[in-house]
Amino acid sequence: MKLNIGYFYKDQLNLYGDNGNVEILQYRAEKRGIPVDVKQIGINTTSDQMAVLNINMIFMGGGPDSGQKEMYEDLISSKKNFLMDYINRGGVGLFICGSYQLLGKYYQTADGSLLEGLGIFDFYTKHFGNHKPRCIGNAVCEISPRILSDPLFLKINGLGGNLVGFENHGGRTYLNKDNKYAPLAKVLSGYGNNGEDGTEGVLFKNCLGSYLHGPILSKNPHLADYLIAKALKLEDLPPLDDTLITLAHTACIKLKK
Ligand code: GLN
Repeated sequence: MKLNIGYFYKDQLNLYGDNGNVEILQYRAEKRGIPVDVKQIGINTTSDQMAVLNINMIFMGGGPDSGQKEMYEDLISSKKNFLMDYINRGGVGLFICGSYQLLGKYYQTADGSLLEGLGIFDFYTKHFGNHKPRCIGNAVCEISPRILSDPLFLKINGLGGNLVGFENHGGRTYLNKDNKYAPLAKVLSGYGNNGEDGTEGVLFKNCLGSYLHGPILSKNPHLADYLIAKALKLEDLPPLDDTLITLAHTACIKLKK
């Protein structure tokens, strides 16, 4: 048993400490005696190389429009088929902000350019430039009932039903209301996907998209453990001493937007 994390586009997509998510997954798995291998997947990684890495967890971070434009061509030309296959087969993945946006139908950037997305998630994202303010601040959300009622989550969750994080995005994401593409969470305070409909992120098969930085897993260890256990098809994980992280999570719930 080994956690093989495919860490995509570290050089282009890594905002507000997003790389910390990979460190946290590694730390929490190794604390349980689970070996971890972090495989860097960049602009030069070919589909043949990816095919033999036995990836069972994908992480992609956020990035500014410029970073998204840098990796976009490569995403479409050499990663699309791998990602579609991986996600549709039920692989586990976490996609934050800039990468989350590119897995939808399209992202219209601040300068009006249209980046066609992978279309794996059924949503579109639009940046309204100066016409709407950026979505910046602390956010608190309530995790989707789909996760809250999952017996695996019920077993490993020692923290409650919230996610906390920090968001900073100009793009606003609008999910198709189709039930298949449930949001990851309901916004209690903050903006989430668009600041209008109360949704945050997306949940599709075993993949999550989210606008939460922080990095998200540093303040939400229940989510980190859920992803680890899902990736390794475990039924439970031994608890860790999360005294400090629990204090951080609880303090964030009280933070102002
Ligand atoms: N460039 C995107 C936006 O501003 C993503 C930003 C991010 O990843 N934080 O919407």
